[in-house]
Amino acid sequence: MQHDQAQHRPTDLDEIPKIVESLHAHFNTNKTKPIEWRREQLNKLYSFIIDQESLLAEALYKDLRKDASSIMADIMIVSREAAHTIEHLEEWTAPQASHKTLFTMFDNNQTLTEPLGVVCIIGAWNYPIQLVLGPMVAALAAGNCILLKPSEISTHCEALLAEWVPRIFDTDAVKIVTGGISCSTVLLQQKFDHIFYTGNGNVGRIIMQAAAKNLTPITLELGGKCPTYVDDAVNVDVVAKRLVWAKLLNAGQTCLAPDYVLVHKAVMPQLLAAVKKAISELYGLDTKNTAHYGRIINKNHTQRLAAVLERQLALSHSNVITGGEYDIDSHYVAPLVVAQVRETDPLMEDEIFGPLLPILEVENEDEAIRIINKRDHPLCLYINSDDKAVVRKIVGSTRSGTVSINDYLVNMIVSDLPFGGVGASGMGKYHGKSGILTFSNQRAMVWRKSDMLSEKIHELVYPPFGLKPLPFALVNYFTGYRKPSDFKLAFNRYVPVRFILGVVVVGLVFEIGRRVGRGGPFFA
Ligand code: NAD
Repeated sequence: MQHDQAQHRPTDLDEIPKIVESLHAHFNTNKTKPIEWRREQLNKLYSFIIDQESLLAEALYKDLRKDASSIMADIMIVSREAAHTIEHLEEWTAPQASHKTLFTMFDNNQTLTEPLGVVCIIGAWNYPIQLVLGPMVAALAAGNCILLKPSEISTHCEALLAEWVPRIFDTDAVKIVTGGISCSTVLLQQKFDHIFYTGNGNVGRIIMQAAAKNLTPITLELGGKCPTYVDDAVNVDVVAKRLVWAKLLNAGQTCLAPDYVLVHKAVMPQLLAAVKKAISELYGLDTKNTAHYGRIINKNHTQRLAAVLERQLALSHSNVITGGEYDIDSHYVAPLVVAQVRETDPLMEDEIFGPLLPILEVENEDEAIRIINKRDHPLCLYINSDDKAVVRKIVGSTRSGTVSINDYLVNMIVSDLPFGGVGASGMGKYHGKSGILTFSNQRAMVWRKSDMLSEKIHELVYPPFGLKPLPFALVNYFTGYRKPSDFKLAFNRYVPVRFILGVVVVGLVFEIGRRVGRGGPFFA
Protein backbone atom coordinates (compact mmCIF):
# COMPACT_ATOMS: atom_id res chain seq x y z
CA MET A 1 0.00 0.00 0.00
CA GLN A 2 1.26 3.44 -0.93
CA HIS A 3 1.36 6.08 1.79
CA ASP A 4 1.96 9.11 -0.40
CA GLN A 5 2.11 12.31 1.61
CA ALA A 6 -0.49 14.93 0.92
CA GLN A 7 1.01 18.22 -0.22
CA HIS A 8 0.13 21.22 1.83
CA ARG A 9 1.95 23.90 3.74
CA PRO A 10 1.69 23.99 7.55
CA THR A 11 0.45 27.28 8.98
CA ASP A 12 3.17 29.87 9.61
CA LEU A 13 3.50 29.93 13.42
CA ASP A 14 3.71 33.73 13.47
CA GLU A 15 0.30 33.89 11.83
CA ILE A 16 -1.47 31.98 14.60
CA PRO A 17 -1.80 34.85 17.15
CA LYS A 18 -3.13 37.13 14.39
CA ILE A 19 -5.65 34.53 13.29
CA VAL A 20 -6.94 34.11 16.85
CA GLU A 21 -7.09 37.88 17.32
CA SER A 22 -9.11 38.30 14.14
CA LEU A 23 -11.60 35.67 15.35
CA HIS A 24 -12.07 37.52 18.63
CA ALA A 25 -12.61 40.77 16.73
CA HIS A 26 -15.14 39.09 14.49
CA PHE A 27 -17.01 37.56 17.40
CA ASN A 28 -17.46 41.03 18.84
CA THR A 29 -19.34 42.12 15.71
CA ASN A 30 -22.17 39.78 16.85
CA LYS A 31 -22.46 38.42 13.30
CA THR A 32 -22.30 34.79 14.41
CA LYS A 33 -25.13 35.14 16.92
CA PRO A 34 -28.28 35.24 14.72
CA ILE A 35 -29.93 31.87 14.29
CA GLU A 36 -29.98 32.43 10.50
CA TRP A 37 -26.18 32.64 10.37
CA ARG A 38 -25.85 29.44 12.38
CA ARG A 39 -28.36 27.61 10.22
CA GLU A 40 -26.64 28.77 7.04
CA GLN A 41 -23.26 27.45 8.26
CA LEU A 42 -24.79 24.14 9.34
CA ASN A 43 -26.47 23.76 5.96
CA LYS A 44 -23.12 24.38 4.29
CA LEU A 45 -21.47 21.78 6.47
CA TYR A 46 -24.20 19.27 5.69
CA SER A 47 -23.96 19.93 1.93
CA PHE A 48 -20.17 19.65 2.03
CA ILE A 49 -20.37 16.14 3.51
CA ILE A 50 -23.02 15.03 1.05
CA ASP A 51 -21.51 16.68 -2.06
CA GLN A 52 -17.90 15.80 -1.35
CA GLU A 53 -18.46 12.32 0.06
CA SER A 54 -16.22 10.68 -2.51
CA LEU A 55 -13.37 13.15 -1.88
CA LEU A 56 -13.65 12.59 1.85
CA ALA A 57 -13.78 8.81 1.38
CA GLU A 58 -10.69 8.96 -0.80
CA ALA A 59 -8.71 10.89 1.81
CA LEU A 60 -9.85 8.48 4.54
CA TYR A 61 -8.82 5.53 2.40
CA LYS A 62 -5.41 7.04 1.76
CA ASP A 63 -4.81 7.74 5.44
CA LEU A 64 -6.24 4.59 6.99
CA ARG A 65 -7.47 2.40 4.15
CA LYS A 66 -10.89 2.79 5.64
CA ASP A 67 -13.65 0.52 4.41
CA ALA A 68 -17.21 1.64 3.71
CA SER A 69 -18.44 1.14 7.28
CA SER A 70 -15.62 3.06 8.92
CA ILE A 71 -16.04 5.78 6.29
CA MET A 72 -19.69 5.89 7.30
CA ALA A 73 -18.64 6.13 10.94
CA ASP A 74 -16.36 9.02 10.03
CA ILE A 75 -18.47 11.18 7.77
CA MET A 76 -22.10 10.12 7.87
CA ILE A 77 -22.13 10.69 11.63
CA VAL A 78 -21.29 14.33 10.94
CA SER A 79 -24.01 14.86 8.33
CA ARG A 80 -26.48 13.11 10.62
CA GLU A 81 -25.42 15.27 13.54
CA ALA A 82 -25.74 18.41 11.38
CA ALA A 83 -29.19 17.40 10.16
CA HIS A 84 -30.39 16.61 13.69
CA THR A 85 -29.01 19.91 14.97
CA ILE A 86 -30.58 21.94 12.14
CA GLU A 87 -33.91 20.36 13.02
CA HIS A 88 -33.66 21.29 16.72
CA LEU A 89 -31.64 24.50 16.46
CA GLU A 90 -34.35 26.90 17.65
CA GLU A 91 -35.56 24.56 20.38
CA TRP A 92 -32.08 23.91 21.83
CA THR A 93 -30.94 27.51 21.78
CA ALA A 94 -34.18 29.18 22.89
CA PRO A 95 -34.23 31.02 26.22
CA GLN A 96 -35.68 28.87 29.01
CA ALA A 97 -38.06 30.62 31.39
CA SER A 98 -37.40 29.93 35.05
CA HIS A 99 -40.03 28.68 37.48
CA LYS A 100 -41.84 31.47 39.25
CA THR A 101 -42.40 31.96 42.93
CA LEU A 102 -44.66 34.59 44.42
CA PHE A 103 -41.53 36.74 44.86
CA THR A 104 -40.64 36.52 41.16
CA MET A 105 -44.12 36.39 39.68
CA PHE A 106 -43.80 39.67 37.76
CA ASP A 107 -40.26 38.95 36.50
CA ASN A 108 -39.12 37.66 33.17
CA ASN A 109 -36.30 35.42 34.42
CA GLN A 110 -34.61 33.21 31.85
CA THR A 111 -31.61 31.05 31.09
CA LEU A 112 -30.04 32.30 27.87
CA THR A 113 -27.97 29.88 25.81
CA GLU A 114 -25.26 32.17 24.47
CA PRO A 115 -22.10 31.47 22.44
CA LEU A 116 -18.85 31.32 24.40
CA GLY A 117 -16.85 33.34 21.87
CA VAL A 118 -13.81 31.89 20.09
CA VAL A 119 -13.39 28.14 20.47
CA CYS A 120 -10.52 25.94 19.42
CA ILE A 121 -11.16 22.38 18.23
CA ILE A 122 -8.16 20.03 18.13
CA GLY A 123 -8.80 16.69 16.42
CA ALA A 124 -7.15 13.26 16.42
CA TRP A 125 -6.18 11.08 13.47
CA ASN A 126 -8.31 7.95 13.87
CA TYR A 127 -11.57 9.57 12.71
CA PRO A 128 -9.91 12.63 11.23
CA ILE A 129 -13.02 14.16 9.67
CA GLN A 130 -15.58 13.34 12.35
CA LEU A 131 -13.41 14.50 15.26
CA VAL A 132 -13.02 17.96 13.72
CA LEU A 133 -16.34 18.55 11.97
CA GLY A 134 -18.47 16.75 14.62
CA PRO A 135 -17.67 19.16 17.47
CA MET A 136 -17.81 21.95 14.91
CA VAL A 137 -21.53 21.24 14.35
CA ALA A 138 -22.20 22.04 18.01
CA ALA A 139 -19.83 25.02 18.07
CA LEU A 140 -21.49 26.56 14.99
CA ALA A 141 -24.97 25.85 16.29
CA ALA A 142 -24.05 27.66 19.50
CA GLY A 143 -22.92 30.71 17.46
CA ASN A 144 -19.18 30.69 18.12
CA CYS A 145 -16.18 31.68 16.05
CA ILE A 146 -14.06 28.58 15.52
CA LEU A 147 -10.43 27.69 15.02
CA LEU A 148 -9.92 24.14 13.77
CA LYS A 149 -6.71 22.15 14.17
CA PRO A 150 -6.94 18.71 12.53
CA SER A 151 -4.41 16.01 13.36
CA GLU A 152 -1.18 16.30 11.39
CA ILE A 153 -0.86 12.50 11.41
CA SER A 154 -3.78 11.82 9.06
CA THR A 155 -2.13 13.94 6.37
CA HIS A 156 -4.63 13.49 3.53
CA CYS A 157 -7.60 14.46 5.64
CA GLU A 158 -5.66 17.38 7.10
CA ALA A 159 -4.87 18.64 3.59
CA LEU A 160 -8.45 18.18 2.45
CA LEU A 161 -9.84 20.12 5.41
CA ALA A 162 -7.23 22.87 4.96
CA GLU A 163 -8.36 23.28 1.37
CA TRP A 164 -12.13 23.03 1.87
CA VAL A 165 -12.87 24.74 5.17
CA PRO A 166 -12.09 28.24 3.79
CA ARG A 167 -14.13 27.43 0.68
CA ILE A 168 -17.24 26.43 2.60
CA PHE A 169 -17.66 28.50 5.73
CA ASP A 170 -17.81 32.16 6.63
CA THR A 171 -14.06 32.81 6.52
CA ASP A 172 -14.24 35.58 9.12
CA ALA A 173 -15.73 33.20 11.66
CA VAL A 174 -14.19 29.82 10.88
CA LYS A 175 -10.49 29.32 10.34
CA ILE A 176 -8.21 26.33 10.17
CA VAL A 177 -4.55 25.93 11.09
CA THR A 178 -2.39 22.94 10.25
CA GLY A 179 0.86 21.55 11.56
CA GLY A 180 2.37 19.36 14.23
CA ILE A 181 3.24 19.79 17.88
CA SER A 182 4.84 23.22 17.32
CA CYS A 183 1.56 24.44 15.82
CA SER A 184 -0.46 23.03 18.76
CA THR A 185 2.01 24.54 21.21
CA VAL A 186 1.65 28.06 19.77
CA LEU A 187 -2.08 27.54 19.58
CA LEU A 188 -2.25 26.71 23.27
CA GLN A 189 -0.47 29.96 24.13
CA GLN A 190 -3.42 31.91 22.74
CA LYS A 191 -6.50 32.95 24.66
CA PHE A 192 -9.63 31.01 23.74
CA ASP A 193 -13.07 30.86 25.28
CA HIS A 194 -13.07 27.07 25.09
CA ILE A 195 -10.70 24.34 23.97
CA PHE A 196 -12.17 21.10 22.72
CA TYR A 197 -9.51 18.41 22.43
CA THR A 198 -9.75 14.82 21.22
CA GLY A 199 -6.75 12.55 21.65
CA ASN A 200 -4.69 10.73 24.22
CA GLY A 201 -4.59 11.52 27.92
CA ASN A 202 -0.93 12.57 28.01
CA VAL A 203 -1.55 15.42 25.60
CA GLY A 204 -4.83 15.99 27.45
CA ARG A 205 -2.76 16.90 30.51
CA ILE A 206 -0.71 19.38 28.42
CA ILE A 207 -3.94 20.95 27.15
CA MET A 208 -5.29 21.22 30.67
CA GLN A 209 -2.14 22.88 31.98
CA ALA A 210 -2.07 25.38 29.11
CA ALA A 211 -5.77 26.15 29.57
CA ALA A 212 -5.29 26.69 33.31
CA LYS A 213 -3.09 29.74 32.62
CA ASN A 214 -6.09 31.58 31.17
CA LEU A 215 -8.75 29.70 33.13
CA THR A 216 -10.04 28.51 29.77
CA PRO A 217 -12.77 25.87 30.01
CA ILE A 218 -11.95 22.63 28.22
CA THR A 219 -13.52 19.49 26.92
CA LEU A 220 -11.22 16.48 26.82
CA GLU A 221 -12.38 13.59 24.67
CA LEU A 222 -9.85 10.95 25.67
CA GLY A 223 -9.54 7.21 25.40
CA GLY A 224 -8.42 4.31 27.52
CA LYS A 225 -9.30 0.66 27.79
CA CYS A 226 -13.00 -0.07 27.15
CA PRO A 227 -13.92 -3.37 28.83
CA THR A 228 -16.42 -5.92 27.58
CA TYR A 229 -18.13 -8.45 29.80
CA VAL A 230 -19.65 -11.57 28.25
CA ASP A 231 -22.09 -13.27 30.58
CA ASP A 232 -23.23 -16.87 30.38
CA ALA A 233 -26.81 -15.73 29.64
CA VAL A 234 -26.25 -14.66 26.03
CA ASN A 235 -26.46 -15.74 22.45
CA VAL A 236 -22.72 -16.35 22.02
CA ASP A 237 -22.72 -16.27 18.21
CA VAL A 238 -24.42 -12.88 18.11
CA VAL A 239 -22.13 -11.49 20.80
CA ALA A 240 -19.03 -12.72 18.95
CA LYS A 241 -20.06 -11.19 15.64
CA ARG A 242 -20.85 -7.79 17.12
CA LEU A 243 -17.67 -7.88 19.16
CA VAL A 244 -15.50 -8.68 16.15
CA TRP A 245 -17.20 -6.00 14.05
CA ALA A 246 -16.65 -3.33 16.71
CA LYS A 247 -13.08 -4.38 17.42
CA LEU A 248 -11.94 -4.55 13.81
CA LEU A 249 -13.71 -1.45 12.52
CA ASN A 250 -10.91 0.87 11.38
CA ALA A 251 -8.45 -1.90 12.37
CA GLY A 252 -9.19 -1.37 16.04
CA GLN A 253 -8.29 2.34 15.96
CA THR A 254 -11.54 3.50 17.51
CA CYS A 255 -11.72 5.17 20.91
CA LEU A 256 -14.84 3.13 21.68
CA ALA A 257 -13.45 -0.18 20.43
CA PRO A 258 -13.80 -3.00 22.94
CA ASP A 259 -10.26 -3.18 24.32
CA TYR A 260 -10.36 -6.40 26.35
CA VAL A 261 -12.97 -9.08 27.01
CA LEU A 262 -13.95 -10.59 30.35
CA VAL A 263 -15.73 -13.86 29.66
CA HIS A 264 -17.82 -15.94 32.03
CA LYS A 265 -16.01 -19.28 32.31
CA ALA A 266 -19.16 -21.21 31.34
CA VAL A 267 -19.17 -19.79 27.79
CA MET A 268 -15.43 -19.40 27.17
CA PRO A 269 -14.94 -22.33 24.71
CA GLN A 270 -18.03 -21.37 22.66
CA LEU A 271 -17.03 -17.71 22.59
CA LEU A 272 -13.49 -18.40 21.38
CA ALA A 273 -14.80 -20.59 18.55
CA ALA A 274 -17.48 -18.03 17.67
CA VAL A 275 -14.98 -15.13 17.59
CA LYS A 276 -12.67 -17.04 15.25
CA LYS A 277 -15.61 -17.90 13.01
CA ALA A 278 -16.87 -14.30 13.03
CA ILE A 279 -13.48 -12.95 11.91
CA SER A 280 -13.38 -15.28 8.93
CA GLU A 281 -17.02 -14.57 8.09
CA LEU A 282 -16.58 -10.79 8.21
CA TYR A 283 -13.02 -10.46 6.86
CA GLY A 284 -12.12 -13.79 5.26
CA LEU A 285 -9.15 -15.98 6.07
CA ASP A 286 -6.58 -13.70 4.43
CA THR A 287 -7.12 -10.30 6.03
CA LYS A 288 -3.98 -8.90 4.42
CA ASN A 289 -5.62 -9.17 1.03
CA THR A 290 -9.13 -8.38 2.14
CA ALA A 291 -10.15 -5.08 0.57
CA HIS A 292 -12.22 -3.94 3.53
CA TYR A 293 -9.69 -4.65 6.28
CA GLY A 294 -8.01 -1.42 7.38
CA ARG A 295 -4.42 -0.44 8.06
CA ILE A 296 -2.62 1.14 10.99
CA ILE A 297 -2.14 4.88 10.59
CA ASN A 298 1.66 4.90 10.36
CA LYS A 299 4.88 3.03 10.99
CA ASN A 300 5.25 4.22 14.61
CA HIS A 301 1.86 2.92 15.62
CA THR A 302 2.44 -0.37 13.73
CA GLN A 303 5.72 -0.82 15.59
CA ARG A 304 4.02 -0.01 18.88
CA LEU A 305 1.41 -2.72 18.24
CA ALA A 306 4.03 -5.22 17.04
CA ALA A 307 6.06 -4.67 20.21
CA VAL A 308 3.15 -5.26 22.60
CA LEU A 309 2.04 -8.27 20.55
CA GLU A 310 5.52 -9.83 20.74
CA ARG A 311 5.75 -9.26 24.49
CA GLN A 312 2.35 -10.89 24.99
CA LEU A 313 3.09 -13.88 22.75
CA ALA A 314 6.39 -14.46 24.52
CA LEU A 315 4.42 -15.40 27.64
CA SER A 316 3.89 -19.16 27.73
CA HIS A 317 0.30 -18.90 29.00
CA SER A 318 -0.82 -16.86 25.96
CA ASN A 319 -3.26 -18.99 24.01
CA VAL A 320 -3.37 -17.61 20.45
CA ILE A 321 -6.76 -18.28 18.92
CA THR A 322 -5.95 -16.51 15.67
CA GLY A 323 -3.48 -13.97 14.27
CA GLY A 324 -0.04 -12.83 15.30
CA GLU A 325 1.20 -11.69 11.87
CA TYR A 326 2.13 -8.12 10.97
CA ASP A 327 4.05 -6.20 8.33
CA ILE A 328 5.57 -2.92 9.50
CA ASP A 329 6.18 -1.52 6.00
CA SER A 330 2.60 -1.87 4.83
CA HIS A 331 1.18 -0.96 8.27
CA TYR A 332 -0.66 -4.28 8.41
CA VAL A 333 -1.51 -6.04 11.65
CA ALA A 334 -3.68 -9.17 11.44
CA PRO A 335 -6.58 -9.55 13.88
CA LEU A 336 -5.06 -11.20 16.94
CA VAL A 337 -7.17 -12.99 19.53
CA VAL A 338 -5.34 -14.21 22.62
CA ALA A 339 -7.03 -16.17 25.40
CA GLN A 340 -5.90 -16.92 28.96
CA VAL A 341 -4.59 -13.39 29.26
CA ARG A 342 -3.88 -12.24 32.80
CA GLU A 343 -4.60 -8.88 34.37
CA THR A 344 -0.93 -7.85 34.47
CA ASP A 345 -0.04 -8.96 30.94
CA PRO A 346 1.37 -6.56 28.29
CA LEU A 347 -1.94 -6.38 26.43
CA MET A 348 -3.60 -5.19 29.64
CA GLU A 349 -1.19 -2.29 30.25
CA ASP A 350 -2.30 0.55 27.96
CA GLU A 351 -5.13 1.21 25.53
CA ILE A 352 -4.45 -1.15 22.61
CA PHE A 353 -5.86 1.00 19.79
CA GLY A 354 -5.36 -1.73 17.21
CA PRO A 355 -6.73 -5.13 16.17
CA LEU A 356 -5.43 -7.09 19.17
CA LEU A 357 -8.03 -8.68 21.43
CA PRO A 358 -7.05 -10.06 24.84
CA ILE A 359 -9.58 -12.39 26.45
CA LEU A 360 -9.65 -13.05 30.19
CA GLU A 361 -11.70 -15.70 31.95
CA VAL A 362 -13.79 -14.66 34.96
CA GLU A 363 -15.85 -16.63 37.48
CA ASN A 364 -18.88 -14.39 37.19
CA GLU A 365 -19.98 -10.75 36.92
CA ASP A 366 -18.59 -9.95 40.39
CA GLU A 367 -15.08 -10.74 39.28
CA ALA A 368 -15.65 -8.69 36.12
CA ILE A 369 -16.77 -5.73 38.25
CA ARG A 370 -13.67 -6.05 40.41
CA ILE A 371 -11.35 -5.99 37.37
CA ILE A 372 -13.18 -3.08 35.75
CA ASN A 373 -13.14 -1.04 38.96
CA LYS A 374 -9.42 -1.55 39.52
CA ARG A 375 -8.74 0.49 36.38
CA ASP A 376 -9.52 4.01 35.20
CA HIS A 377 -13.16 4.69 34.42
CA PRO A 378 -13.56 3.75 30.75
CA LEU A 379 -15.04 5.79 27.94
CA CYS A 380 -17.46 2.95 27.31
CA LEU A 381 -18.36 -0.22 29.18
CA TYR A 382 -19.89 -3.07 27.21
CA ILE A 383 -22.10 -5.67 28.85
CA ASN A 384 -23.31 -8.72 26.96
CA SER A 385 -26.08 -10.37 28.90
CA ASP A 386 -29.77 -11.13 28.61
CA ASP A 387 -30.05 -11.37 32.37
CA LYS A 388 -31.44 -8.02 33.51
CA ALA A 389 -30.30 -8.53 37.11
CA VAL A 390 -26.70 -9.04 35.95
CA VAL A 391 -26.86 -5.97 33.71
CA ARG A 392 -28.30 -3.81 36.50
CA LYS A 393 -25.70 -5.04 38.96
CA ILE A 394 -22.81 -4.17 36.61
CA VAL A 395 -24.27 -0.80 35.61
CA GLY A 396 -24.92 0.05 39.26
CA SER A 397 -21.44 -0.97 40.46
CA THR A 398 -19.24 0.70 37.84
CA ARG A 399 -18.60 4.09 36.25
CA SER A 400 -18.00 4.91 32.58
CA GLY A 401 -18.77 7.63 30.03
CA THR A 402 -21.22 5.35 28.25
CA VAL A 403 -22.60 1.92 28.96
CA SER A 404 -23.76 -0.22 26.08
CA ILE A 405 -25.66 -3.46 26.52
CA ASN A 406 -25.55 -6.21 23.92
CA ASP A 407 -24.09 -3.94 21.25
CA TYR A 408 -21.15 -1.74 20.43
CA LEU A 409 -20.52 1.77 19.09
CA VAL A 410 -24.23 2.37 18.51
CA ASN A 411 -24.23 5.13 21.09
CA MET A 412 -22.25 7.13 18.51
CA ILE A 413 -25.21 7.32 16.18
CA VAL A 414 -27.88 8.10 18.74
CA SER A 415 -27.56 11.86 18.53
CA ASP A 416 -29.54 12.53 21.68
CA LEU A 417 -27.16 10.59 23.90
CA PRO A 418 -24.34 12.68 25.40
CA PHE A 419 -20.94 11.44 24.32
CA GLY A 420 -17.77 11.73 26.39
CA GLY A 421 -15.76 10.12 29.13
CA VAL A 422 -15.52 10.35 32.88
CA GLY A 423 -12.35 10.59 34.95
CA ALA A 424 -9.33 9.49 32.92
CA SER A 425 -11.44 8.89 29.79
CA GLY A 426 -12.32 12.56 29.54
CA MET A 427 -14.41 15.46 30.70
CA GLY A 428 -17.34 17.17 29.05
CA LYS A 429 -19.88 15.83 26.58
CA TYR A 430 -21.13 16.54 23.11
CA HIS A 431 -23.55 15.27 20.44
CA GLY A 432 -27.04 16.70 20.12
CA LYS A 433 -28.11 19.21 22.72
CA SER A 434 -25.23 18.35 25.06
CA GLY A 435 -22.83 19.66 22.37
CA ILE A 436 -24.63 22.99 22.23
CA LEU A 437 -24.48 23.24 26.02
CA THR A 438 -20.73 22.51 25.92
CA PHE A 439 -20.13 25.38 23.52
CA SER A 440 -22.53 27.79 25.23
CA ASN A 441 -22.65 29.98 28.26
CA GLN A 442 -25.81 29.27 30.21
CA ARG A 443 -26.36 32.91 31.08
CA ALA A 444 -28.87 33.58 33.80
CA MET A 445 -30.96 36.68 33.26
CA VAL A 446 -33.13 38.26 35.94
CA TRP A 447 -35.41 40.93 34.52
CA ARG A 448 -37.59 42.81 37.02
CA LYS A 449 -39.83 45.75 36.43
CA SER A 450 -39.39 48.95 38.38
CA ASP A 451 -43.08 49.69 38.85
CA MET A 452 -44.69 50.04 42.27
CA LEU A 453 -46.31 46.62 42.26
CA SER A 454 -42.93 44.92 41.79
CA GLU A 455 -41.46 47.23 44.38
CA LYS A 456 -44.09 46.22 46.94
CA ILE A 457 -42.96 42.63 46.58
CA HIS A 458 -39.30 43.63 46.71
CA GLU A 459 -39.90 45.51 49.94
CA LEU A 460 -40.10 42.14 51.65
CA VAL A 461 -36.33 41.87 51.61
CA TYR A 462 -35.42 45.45 52.53
CA PRO A 463 -34.03 46.22 55.97
CA PRO A 464 -34.72 46.92 58.74
CA PHE A 465 -35.69 43.34 58.91
CA GLY A 466 -35.53 42.51 62.59
CA LEU A 467 -35.60 39.03 63.91
CA LYS A 468 -39.32 38.83 64.05
CA PRO A 469 -40.77 35.52 62.97
CA LEU A 470 -43.42 37.06 60.74
CA PRO A 471 -41.16 38.78 58.15
CA PHE A 472 -39.01 35.64 57.99
CA ALA A 473 -42.03 33.47 57.46
CA LEU A 474 -43.30 35.84 54.78
CA VAL A 475 -39.97 35.96 52.93
CA ASN A 476 -39.74 32.19 53.10
CA TYR A 477 -43.24 31.87 51.81
CA PHE A 478 -42.89 34.39 48.99
CA THR A 479 -39.46 33.29 47.78
CA GLY A 480 -40.15 29.59 47.84
CA TYR A 481 -37.36 28.74 50.30
CA ARG A 482 -39.43 26.07 51.96
CA LYS A 483 -38.84 22.39 52.11
CA PRO A 484 -41.51 20.76 49.95
CA SER A 485 -44.10 18.69 51.77
CA ASP A 486 -44.25 14.94 51.20
CA PHE A 487 -47.49 15.51 49.36
CA LYS A 488 -45.80 17.96 46.96
CA LEU A 489 -42.93 15.53 46.34
CA ALA A 490 -45.38 12.75 45.60
CA PHE A 491 -47.32 15.13 43.40
CA ASN A 492 -44.17 16.00 41.43
CA ARG A 493 -43.00 12.42 41.23
CA TYR A 494 -46.11 10.53 40.28
CA VAL A 495 -47.61 11.48 36.97
CA PRO A 496 -50.83 9.51 37.75
CA VAL A 497 -51.46 11.64 40.88
CA ARG A 498 -51.12 14.79 38.80
CA PHE A 499 -53.32 13.33 36.10
CA ILE A 500 -56.07 12.29 38.51
CA LEU A 501 -56.00 15.66 40.27
CA GLY A 502 -56.06 17.38 36.87
CA VAL A 503 -59.12 15.38 35.83
CA VAL A 504 -60.87 16.16 39.14
CA VAL A 505 -60.14 19.90 38.79
CA VAL A 506 -61.27 20.03 35.16
CA GLY A 507 -64.40 18.05 36.09
CA LEU A 508 -65.19 20.46 38.90
CA VAL A 509 -64.76 23.47 36.62
CA PHE A 510 -67.11 21.96 34.06
CA GLU A 511 -69.65 21.07 36.72
CA ILE A 512 -69.55 24.60 38.15
CA GLY A 513 -69.82 26.06 34.66
CA ARG A 514 -72.78 23.84 33.85
CA ARG A 515 -74.63 24.71 37.03
CA VAL A 516 -73.91 28.43 36.71
CA GLY A 517 -75.16 28.30 33.12
CA ARG A 518 -78.33 26.53 34.25
CA GLY A 519 -78.82 29.09 36.97
CA GLY A 520 -79.44 26.34 39.54
CA PRO A 521 -77.69 25.79 42.88
CA PHE A 522 -74.28 24.14 42.92
CA PHE A 523 -74.18 20.41 43.55
CA ALA A 524 -77.93 20.24 43.90
P1 NAD B 1 -3.04 12.69 17.65
O1 NAD B 1 -1.64 12.22 17.71
O2 NAD B 1 -3.64 13.04 16.35
O3 NAD B 1 -3.13 13.93 18.65
C1 NAD B 1 -4.33 14.64 18.81
C2 NAD B 1 -4.06 16.11 18.64
O4 NAD B 1 -3.18 16.54 19.67
C3 NAD B 1 -3.39 16.44 17.31
O5 NAD B 1 -4.09 17.51 16.70
C4 NAD B 1 -1.98 16.86 17.71
O6 NAD B 1 -1.46 17.87 16.89
C5 NAD B 1 -2.14 17.35 19.12
N1 NAD B 1 -0.91 17.19 19.89
C6 NAD B 1 -0.07 16.13 19.85
N2 NAD B 1 0.96 16.34 20.70
C7 NAD B 1 0.75 17.54 21.29
C8 NAD B 1 1.45 18.30 22.26
N3 NAD B 1 2.58 17.88 22.80
N4 NAD B 1 0.94 19.50 22.61
C9 NAD B 1 -0.23 19.94 22.09
N5 NAD B 1 -0.93 19.26 21.16
C10 NAD B 1 -0.45 18.08 20.77
O7 NAD B 1 -4.01 11.63 18.29
P2 NAD B 1 -3.78 10.59 19.47
O8 NAD B 1 -3.55 11.32 20.73
O9 NAD B 1 -2.85 9.52 19.06
O10 NAD B 1 -5.26 9.99 19.45
C11 NAD B 1 -5.55 8.72 19.88
C12 NAD B 1 -6.17 8.79 21.26
O11 NAD B 1 -7.34 9.58 21.21
C13 NAD B 1 -6.61 7.45 21.78
O12 NAD B 1 -6.33 7.38 23.15
C14 NAD B 1 -8.10 7.45 21.56
O13 NAD B 1 -8.81 6.62 22.45
C15 NAD B 1 -8.43 8.89 21.79
N6 NAD B 1 -9.64 9.26 21.10
C16 NAD B 1 -10.70 9.65 21.83
C17 NAD B 1 -11.88 9.97 21.19
C18 NAD B 1 -13.09 10.40 21.96
O14 NAD B 1 -14.02 10.89 21.33
N7 NAD B 1 -13.12 10.27 23.27
C19 NAD B 1 -11.97 9.90 19.81
C20 NAD B 1 -10.85 9.52 19.10
C21 NAD B 1 -9.68 9.20 19.75
